[in-house]
Amino acid sequence: MGENKCIFCKIANGEVPSSTVYEDDVFKVILDINPASAGHVLIISKQHYKNLLELPSDLAAKSIVLAKKLMIGITDILKCDGVNLVQNNEEAAGQTVFHFHVHIIPRYQDDNLRLNWTPGLLEEEIKVKMLTDIRNYM
Ligand code: AMP
Ligand code: ZN
Repeated sequence: MGENKCIFCKIANGEVPSSTVYEDDVFKVILDINPASAGHVLIISKQHYKNLLELPSDLAAKSIVLAKKLMIGITDILKCDGVNLVQNNEEAAGQTVFHFHVHIIPRYQDDNLRLNWTPGLLEEEIKVKMLTDIRNYM
């Protein structure tokens, strides 16, 4: 998608209104329009990057520091019992808006929100690949 049509670019530049709870020079933090739970916010980058795979590492680091501060504030303000950080990359992983964002989802005891999966079996072939190959990317 071209950046001129991207909904989060439009929110970032003020063309589309949003409930902005915080912004700095590189990120805007907005209330999710369809929250998974009370207090669900999104950190969106002001510049267009498709997702975390494209985001420069210095911004990735800043986004986690910002997420931590927001988690502390949200927990204090809403008295939630836990928080999930969710960050989807590509359609197969559930990404629907192709502009980098991090979900901060407050959790409440017995809220019945499902972010879970059925635990599988660790396959030997995958285990060997991972143990030998990942270090080449560090
Ligand atoms: P993802 O599935 O990770 O791409 O998440 C996209 C998120 O953006 C969803 O939780 C949507 O509810 C949220 N969203 C989409 N459009 C808007 C909007 N205009 N303002 C606020 N949140 C939005
Ligand atoms: Zn964008």
